[in-house]
Amino acid sequence: MQQAERWESKIRTRTGATLATILRRLPSIWADRRRARRIAKGLPSFEGSVELPDEKTIYSWIEGICQTPHRRPGTPEGHKGEQWVAEKFREIGLENVTLDPIPITVWTPETWSLSVNGKKVPCFYVPNTAFTNPGGLSATLAYVGTGTPADFEKAAVAGKIAVADVTFPRMPTGALMRVMRACYVLSDPDGAVSMRTSQYLNFARQNFIGGCTAETAPDHDVYWQAFKRGAAGVCLILRDQPSNSNTHYGPYDGIMKPIPGLWIGKLDGARLRESARFGAKAVMVLEGASAPGVMRNVWGVLPGQSDETILVTSHHDSPFAGAVEDGAGVAQVQAQARAWSRVPKEKRPRTIVFVVDAGHFYGSQGAHQFARDHKEIMRKARILITLEHLAGKEVREAGEGYEETGRLALTVMFTSPEPSVIATVLKALEKRPARVTAPIPADFFGPAPTSDASGYVLEAGVPVISWIGCPYYLLDQHDTLDKIERSALVPIAGTVAEMVKLQMLMP
Ligand SMILES: [Zn+2]
Repeated sequence: MQQAERWESKIRTRTGATLATILRRLPSIWADRRRARRIAKGLPSFEGSVELPDEKTIYSWIEGICQTPHRRPGTPEGHKGEQWVAEKFREIGLENVTLDPIPITVWTPETWSLSVNGKKVPCFYVPNTAFTNPGGLSATLAYVGTGTPADFEKAAVAGKIAVADVTFPRMPTGALMRVMRACYVLSDPDGAVSMRTSQYLNFARQNFIGGCTAETAPDHDVYWQAFKRGAAGVCLILRDQPSNSNTHYGPYDGIMKPIPGLWIGKLDGARLRESARFGAKAVMVLEGASAPGVMRNVWGVLPGQSDETILVTSHHDSPFAGAVEDGAGVAQVQAQARAWSRVPKEKRPRTIVFVVDAGHFYGSQGAHQFARDHKEIMRKARILITLEHLAGKEVREAGEGYEETGRLALTVMFTSPEPSVIATVLKALEKRPARVTAPIPADFFGPAPTSDASGYVLEAGVPVISWIGCPYYLLDQHDTLDKIERSALVPIAGTVAEMVKLQMLMP
């Protein structure tokens, strides 16, 4: 594995460390913003109109790609998603529509369960972990807290099933955006973000971040530490997940793992924790099959007057129905493809390459592979605009599930520090304000945006605007069509079109 692929382990998952880093950066964020504002004033305007698809059309694309229960990499459902994207690209009239295959191991679970003292505990599998023998793994439970070295000192796990809590960082987003002004601008015309707004980042499992192996895992990685200490399996409680949801599809690093793992919802987990403290007996089942397979990046070209390129990307794979993750992103890529395909070529100074890549849920390998396979495109790329999880409804915890808050889920735009890139975002948001979004430095949480843009950025160093949201249902089975706020679809496409217009003309 190349170094760049394993960057997930470098994401800052500690709230304190992240805030300290951002605090130090504030003066430079403010200075970049001042400079970008001056540049934004002098930017030329795009002559001619860009006609956006209507709400019904964009929504029908989300419905179109979300026809299967999931689009996991390398599965028949995943292949259906790839073909659907290619077909739409051809319909729109993109040139050179191509599917680039990437070999992977397709890990397909068939049955999974957990029984403690003969009673079933609701659970879901940890992707890409080892299968048990038929009939399952019978062993004693051992509770190891969050799996710190001190926790493991207190509980022997060899030959047992380790039970642990997995935690998420909680970001004080309101204080960050409103008080510290740690963003280039806060676009919030409805006043949805208050000083008290905060959010768990449930893609950043603090003690099981992903991207590690037994050799490279840090001391606080509970899965790999349990493995190294001889545990036969692990049951991980989603302690901070709002709701009792257990269908957490992570980590999605594409690394095959040596002992079976199961996720447990936080309310079920409270009971499991007690059973484990008393050393109850359990049977853990995870059966399925692994086989070599393939996933495919899909891309197409809209040639302009020059081969200088604007890249517009998302990914087609998803753990479940994936309306927001990432039917929403795919539909926004399609919206730009359709809109710009109807602008006469002589009015398009630059080429646009549209990529809907594979395997975000396989270590973002599709994005990495595209950047490696197409060095010439990457060399000519002036900007990467990656669109993910847009127009998702915000939810909050309600008993065992979620309820809608009536607001749109907050999004951020990871934005490269180049003043012209920040100016693009500022000017686009001034012209077409978006509901609840904040452009922030691209390296806010680590060396690259915590998004599907990371592969392109790490491989090719391309300047980026990565627009992405993180509602609580993102990685679970509740990411369904009803989570799409339809009224936001066209306005979002409008803001993106402004960015593309500015990048068409940017000197
Ligand atoms: Zn996504």
